[in-house]
Amino acid sequence: MKLLKSISPYLVIVGIIVLFGLVITSLINPPEITYTEFMRELNADNIEKVDLEDNTATVVLKESSSSDQEMKAGKYMLNIKSYENFDQMMLSELQNGSTIEYKAVVKKIPFIVSILPYILLVVLFFIFMYVMLGQGQGGGGKVMNFGKSRARLYTTSKITFADVAGAEEEKEEMMELVSFLKNPKRYSMLGARIPKGVLMVGPPGTGKTYLAKAVAGEANVPFFSMSGSEFVEMFVGMGASKVRDLFKQAKEKAPCIVFIDEIDAIGKKRDGQVGGNDEREQTLNQLLTEMDGFEGNNGVIILAATNRPESLDPALTRPGRFDRRVPVELPDLAGREAILKVHARKIKASDDVDFHTIARMASGASGAELANIVNEAALRAVRDGRTIVTEADLEESIEVVIAGYQKKNAVLSDQEKKVVSYHEIGHALVAALQNHSAPVQKITIIPRTSGALGYTMQVETGDKYLMTKKELENKIATFTGGRAAEEIVFGEITTGASNDIEQATKIARAMITRYGMTDEFDMVAMETVTNQYLGGDASLSCSADTQKEIDEKVVELVKREHEKAKKILTDNRKKLDELAMFLYEKETIT
Ligand code: ADP
Repeated sequence: MKLLKSISPYLVIVGIIVLFGLVITSLINPPEITYTEFMRELNADNIEKVDLEDNTATVVLKESSSSDQEMKAGKYMLNIKSYENFDQMMLSELQNGSTIEYKAVVKKIPFIVSILPYILLVVLFFIFMYVMLGQGQGGGGKVMNFGKSRARLYTTSKITFADVAGAEEEKEEMMELVSFLKNPKRYSMLGARIPKGVLMVGPPGTGKTYLAKAVAGEANVPFFSMSGSEFVEMFVGMGASKVRDLFKQAKEKAPCIVFIDEIDAIGKKRDGQVGGNDEREQTLNQLLTEMDGFEGNNGVIILAATNRPESLDPALTRPGRFDRRVPVELPDLAGREAILKVHARKIKASDDVDFHTIARMASGASGAELANIVNEAALRAVRDGRTIVTEADLEESIEVVIAGYQKKNAVLSDQEKKVVSYHEIGHALVAALQNHSAPVQKITIIPRTSGALGYTMQVETGDKYLMTKKELENKIATFTGGRAAEEIVFGEITTGASNDIEQATKIARAMITRYGMTDEFDMVAMETVTNQYLGGDASLSCSADTQKEIDEKVVELVKREHEKAKKILTDNRKKLDELAMFLYEKETIT
């Protein structure tokens, strides 16, 4: 019975396809002619041509002048009972002097071949359905399941706040939700309304999903999780029905957490443009309705994450929906150290690993990257056949994350190696001989898979929240130091500085257009950052004339710093030579 139920939708579809096929064939085939009509036309000598093929004959009637012609000229199909008899009749007709053009063939098409087109059609239909709807979802019956939410029905999370390191402020904000989920009565007694939705914003990999899971784990409630893109379907209305289904299930399991990752996929501003995405807007409307629909304290708390808060629809972020926003930022130095330690608990690390140093080296890394660094280190230890992870493993894995693996068999020519040595020492020396630069931690000229032939790692001693103009200028000078060294020593320039050029330009441009560090533009923003958490793309907001001026200023600034770097290196030529030779021999200096 159950089997019948599950295959019945398929049978219906197959039936529809066969019917469709029949209609099509009847449209393509010529109209039929009966035997009586055929005999009459034959006697009236109105037939031009007969093609006999198995049990059907295609009959072509000619235009006749006689007024008694009842059928129009054209092609007709005649069904025949006996091929032999019909053939006999036609042959005798020809012998009697008829001028009909007659052809007869026997083509025995096997049954299977005749139904092949139908089979093919059915197969194609299923492939299409599978690709468009069922992709990777596993399990049968998905074709008929368009509208059902595919939320991995609630899971119970084992992650708690103890696993989330560093994010103290974020955890504190979430603590309130946990306390509500554990004891909702305490809040309802006082008439306090707990936020329905909490929007977590921040760069990728900072642990937004992780934090949501930790809230569910800490409160020990079911965790419904879905990604925004999962809602958006091919057919209008499907996403909305998924939202309904998700909330229906969540309400049954309340108190619980509903987590929607990448909510910007459905929550984009409805801009009413022509050709807008109807499906997405309907889904969003349904989400808005659902969030309004349940009264404040019924125990369903919605957490959502996004990297692009600026693109969200204002209706979504108004009080009563996602009324609380928790920024989840990249971890600071102490945070990085804590995250490294949390993840190091899962591996066997030697006791003397100094996580503070590692955290300093991994400046700017997100939680996910730090987790990856620890894992890379463990993999490296296994590869080397060791049973314990050392600090060197961790340091190397930071470099792997920054610059890729070492290219063991890349052979640089002697001259190239010399150029790279001078280039890297150029950076290091310029950095070291200026006052406001981060100390150089490591210089290496071992090529990496990212394409870098060598690099100089500068490490700040602590967290830095503000940069002075001087520091930024020195940074630019440091970037130009590599090329400057090549010019001074070899009187020749190479392609090795392309990345430096990019970085230096970026800083110089930002100084002029965003940080107000020129006298001419004072404190006017010439550029606005549009994508704060995803690389920080900027868009110009000034006239074409100013744009030209900005370009000139950028060039001027970089040029000035380049000259400064050249001067520093020329003044310290002896040191430059010594250090470069040293690096050339050792390949890595720490
Ligand atoms: P996001 O959702 O912000 O893109 P995730 O929550 O998926 O990032 O984080 C990816 C991984 O990074 C997590 O599984 C976790 O291992 C690690 N991670 C991120 N932040 C932290 C943190 N604060 N403490 C511990 N681990 C973290």
